[in-house]
Parts: sequence; C-alpha cells; structure tokens
Amino acid sequence: MNAISPSIDIADELRTMLNDKKVRFLMASYVDMHGVSKTKMVPTSHLEQMLAGSEMFTGAALDGVPQQVNDNEVAAYPDPASAMVLPWDPSIAWLASDLRLDGAPFDACSRNILKRQTAEAAALGYRFNLGMEAEFYVLKSDGDDEPLSPRRLSKPCYDASSVLDNMGWLSEMVDAMNELGWDVYSFDQEDALGQFEIDFAYSDALTMSDRFVFLRMMANYLARRHGLFASFMPKPYANRTGSGAHFNMSLGDLASSRNLFADPADPRGCGLSALGYQFTAGVVRHLPAICAVVAPTVNSYKRLVKRGSMSGFTWAPIFACYGNNNRTNAVRIPLGGGRIELRSADAACNPYLGAAMVLAAGLEGIREGLDPGEPNRDNMYELGPDALAERGIRQLPRTLEEALDAFEADPLARAVMGDRMADSWLTNKRNEWLSYVAHVSDWETSRYLHFF
Ligand code: GLU
Ligand code: MG
Repeated sequence: MNAISPSIDIADELRTMLNDKKVRFLMASYVDMHGVSKTKMVPTSHLEQMLAGSEMFTGAALDGVPQQVNDNEVAAYPDPASAMVLPWDPSIAWLASDLRLDGAPFDACSRNILKRQTAEAAALGYRFNLGMEAEFYVLKSDGDDEPLSPRRLSKPCYDASSVLDNMGWLSEMVDAMNELGWDVYSFDQEDALGQFEIDFAYSDALTMSDRFVFLRMMANYLARRHGLFASFMPKPYANRTGSGAHFNMSLGDLASSRNLFADPADPRGCGLSALGYQFTAGVVRHLPAICAVVAPTVNSYKRLVKRGSMSGFTWAPIFACYGNNNRTNAVRIPLGGGRIELRSADAACNPYLGAAMVLAAGLEGIREGLDPGEPNRDNMYELGPDALAERGIRQLPRTLEEALDAFEADPLARAVMGDRMADSWLTNKRNEWLSYVAHVSDWETSRYLHFF
C-alpha cells in the first residue's frame, strides 16, 4: 500500500489498535544499507503528523543512505500496515517506513527498491511470496562467547537437551513471534554449538522483509534480558556452520493467490511449474551479482565453503547451480515442490535489497522464457572441475571482492538498485573489503612472524 496516503481503513485500524493497546510511543523506523532499523521515537499523540512524514533524518549520518551533509533530510513515511507492538513492551509500536526526499520517493531507500520490483511483478499479475529461515547464534555475553547449554557435543545438531537448556529465551522469542501473528512452525538447535533456527510462515516479500529486520532487533533484545546476545554474523567460527537466511520463494496469482510454482505433474519430478523453472533460470544466471547483496560482508564468504562445521560439510553452497531437494546447490527445490530456496543468502543480509535482486532476476527468467536445464541431483561438493565444466557450472564468488566485481559487471544490479544506491553499495562495500585486506590477522602473525 502507499504510505503517503494510507487507505483510510488501515490508518483507522491502526488508530483503534494503538488506542486499545494503550501504545504510548511510536517508532518511525527505516533501514540503513545493512538492513538495521533506525528510528525516531514519537509520542502517540503525534501519530497523524508522523504518518504525514514529520520524522526527518540526515542520511549522511548512516551507511548507504546516500546523501551529502548539506542535503535536505529524508523523511520517513511509516506504513500503517506494518505496525508491530513490541511483544516485550506493549507501550511501544514499531512501523516500517518508506523514505521520501523533497516530497518524492527516495530512490535509494531499501523498501522503495523492493517495492519497485514487487510493482513489476504485480504488473505481470504476480505476488512475490517469501519465507526467510532465521539461523543465528545465541551465546553468553560474559566475555567468553560460550553457548548457554553446558553440553559439549561434537555433533549437537537437533540435540534435544541443548534446545531444552535454551528454552528460557527461546520460548519468549517464539511466543513473541506468534503474538505478532508470524506463525512459527518449527525451531531447533542447529548444527553448531549455540546455533538455532526458527522457521515461520511465509508472506508477501515486503512484509517478510519488515519482519526479518524486526526479528534481528527482537532476538538481540530478548537474548540480552537473559544475559546472552544474539549474533547474526554469517560465520562466527571457522569450525562451525554459518548462519544462513535461506529465501523460500514462489509467485502467487495476484487475483486468486494460487501458487503458480506448484505442479504435481512436473516431468522433472520436483513439483515445480514451468514458470518456477523460468524464474529459477533467471536467478541462477544472476547468482554472482545476487551474492554481493544476499551475502554482503567480508565474513559471508567464509560461510560459502565446503567444509567447516561440526557435522562435516557446511550445507552452504559454493557453486552457481540449482537442484532438486539437495542442499549442495545454491538454489534448491525443496521436497514437495511449489517453491524454490536460495541458499546463498545469509543472516547479515538486507532483506529488501536481497529480495529485490532475486525477484528481478526471476522475472527476467520468466520474460525470456529461460530453461535452467536438468536439476543437479548429486552431491555438488564432490564434483571435480571436469564435471563442473561439462555442466557449465560456475563457482560462486569466493570473496566479497569477487562478488562486488560481479555486481558491478551485471547491469541487472544497477537496474534494481538505481544509480544512487548501486554507487553507494559499491563504495561502502569496496571500502569494507579494503579495510579487511589491510588488516594483519592472527593467522598471518602465527604463520609468518617466526617463519624465516
Ligand atoms: N547453516 C547452513 C547454512 O549456512 C544451512 C543448514 C540448513 O540447511 O538448514 O546455510
Ligand atoms: Mg538450517
């Protein structure tokens, strides 16, 4: 919906809800390029002004809200449909906002970037459905970064006692998500000590992106109340699995909501429709550039490796390929079909920008009627260079720098982001890379200091 003139119904509903729940403060939130919530607090008595764009921000104070210090401020226009009352403090409500500059949509606002793509999908009669799997670590914050559970299993994945040891903060988190209407259906102790996954119902991509931004903030807040902290760092430990944020995607028919990716009669046996295969082919074509956005940090590329986990393989992708219900592909068609899963996305991504990139790539696949070929059904980690060359499969970027090169070389990236955000992304991220390569690590000193 258009937040500049919210439909009377939704704005009315919001007013009633805020009154009923006695909400006292409102957060006019939007995100920086990292997908982190930034806000000003507004007393509820000023709701009307806030909805009309009263909250102004100097973008130059943040990463990737590309503005000069002398520019006019950007204004947040909160979307009433996105309102969430904080489950742990019902005196406060959080609203996701679109940014405007001098009265017009700010082209570099992450939420606007996604909305441009969902509008493209809507023009073709599609609704972009997205589910994001939340993987993250929760560790003690007393300085030793230890998991809460005293158990030190070599393979803690799915361990029942470990998840029970963590139910204090976990049950609060799951209750909070359900109170917000997110419908959690499963959560577990993941592959690594201290790592968890919470899965909840999919929604339209804009709603899911708002939720994922909120989820990271909420996980941190709730964990801190237990003397813990939540980390969404993609690969905190070289010898434990990384934290993905797999995108589960489908297109629905805008009018009927019918899932257009489902086809039980799929001749390839994966339950995916021809439209789903075309979308997949578009995504696979642009995977290297997409990586720069869904795996956006220096550290992200330490996750996209074959080995480095407590159970053997990492389950994270290394090749730009797709397959059936087979976790060694970057794009997977989970059992039962009707959706595709992008596995290269990690927990540090800006979900709006990631979703915009992948949707644009998928729509290109549909427009061009692309075919991704046969799904890879084997263990891709074990394929040698000859087999990969025979199938025409490329390696995913191995560093942030390689990903940024792919982003810069792919016209789709600039078309999705717009010039201002594409330039800002490249400048900020190249600086991040240069700062990393200039750093002398423990690995180097321990290897070379006494070497010669
Ligand atoms: N943690 C793995 C990753 O980094 C994924 C494990 C899974 O398939 O749930 O993507
Ligand atoms: Mg997982």
